[in-house]
Amino acid sequence: MMRELLLGFIKIHILYHAGQQPVYGLWLMEELARHGYTISPGTLYPTLHSLERAGYLTSEKRVVGGRQRRYYAITPAGETALAEARDRLAELVAEVLEERP
Ligand SMILES: [Zn+2]
Repeated sequence: MMRELLLGFIKIHILYHAGQQPVYGLWLMEELARHGYTISPGTLYPTLHSLERAGYLTSEKRVVGGRQRRYYAITPAGETALAEARDRLAELVAEVLEERP
């Protein structure tokens, strides 16, 4: 259950970062670890693929330093979803954190 809850947060992180600059799997794993999320490639890559299938991310292969990497960037539909997630997040934070007794 916890994993399921955190996966939503992780998806928002991914969309946010892919909106800043194109990102690749290993970079995301390190960035998410910095935020305290341990995510295995076996969870991250299917998540990236599902966001791509949903039309929120687009990807392309690039060769960097002799290594082939797949970079993910946000799409206009992803931007729209992120904007909505941000509004809901603000509303959620307001209720869950600020209305704490
Ligand atoms: Zn981050």
